[in-house]
Amino acid sequence: MIAYRFCVMKHRNVLRLTLAFAGAAALGGCGSLIPGSSSNSGTPDYGNARAAYNAGKSANASSPAPRRLATTPQSVAPNPSDASCLAELNQAGARFNPIPDTYAAPGCNKLGTVQLSALSGDARQFGVSNIGPVKCRTAKAFSAWARFGVDRAARQILGSPLERIETMGSYSCRNVAGSNRRSAHATAGAIDVSSFTLADGRRISLKGDWDDGTPAEREFLRVVHKSACKRFGTVLGPEYNRAHEDHFHLEGTGKKFCR
Ligand SMILES: [Zn+2]
Repeated sequence: MIAYRFCVMKHRNVLRLTLAFAGAAALGGCGSLIPGSSSNSGTPDYGNARAAYNAGKSANASSPAPRRLATTPQSVAPNPSDASCLAELNQAGARFNPIPDTYAAPGCNKLGTVQLSALSGDARQFGVSNIGPVKCRTAKAFSAWARFGVDRAARQILGSPLERIETMGSYSCRNVAGSNRRSAHATAGAIDVSSFTLADGRRISLKGDWDDGTPAEREFLRVVHKSACKRFGTVLGPEYNRAHEDHFHLEGTGKKFCR
């Protein structure tokens, strides 16, 4: 299953490269997908699309990005760290499709991202709505949080399993509000979560229930906020500022900042 996904991605990436650089890329067959088997495995954190992009940039540093034809056949496969993340996400029971690497604008890109369609709890799957591309590592943290943080809290505190997590999106080429710094959303490294729908039909939202929900709903939202802080690097919620009164901003897996 995942081998098929990689195979599809490989060809889609080649197509994307061909479009991006007007290059004539030769399509190889779907070969071994064992991490490290990429023909470009000497490039540690960047896949072939990135290497090609960077090579094109440095070769044309003094002139405005002319399109150039690729002169050698290119084989495109996920880089080893992306491949192992995708395998782990698959093992966690997530349903997803890898998205081809693309660069949208300075500081904005979708590198190593996936499109999630469903996640797995202990006993059942649940949906994720309105979500776009997410970096694989963030998706992995999201998958673990949804299962161990949200679904279990829903059953224990509210007596019903989770049916769906509603988001306000993930990838967005934009700056942090009021700054000239790119948001983590600009590289698909963050997800904004607005509400949770339970199997019994209840919908618990940040906007309506953080302050005004029943005691159990308010406890549920605080428990899932706290568990998000264990899984993600940066978590911002209603206590942080008014911009986050209606959602949790869940970002990356690095340095901890939790409000
Ligand atoms: Zn956000």
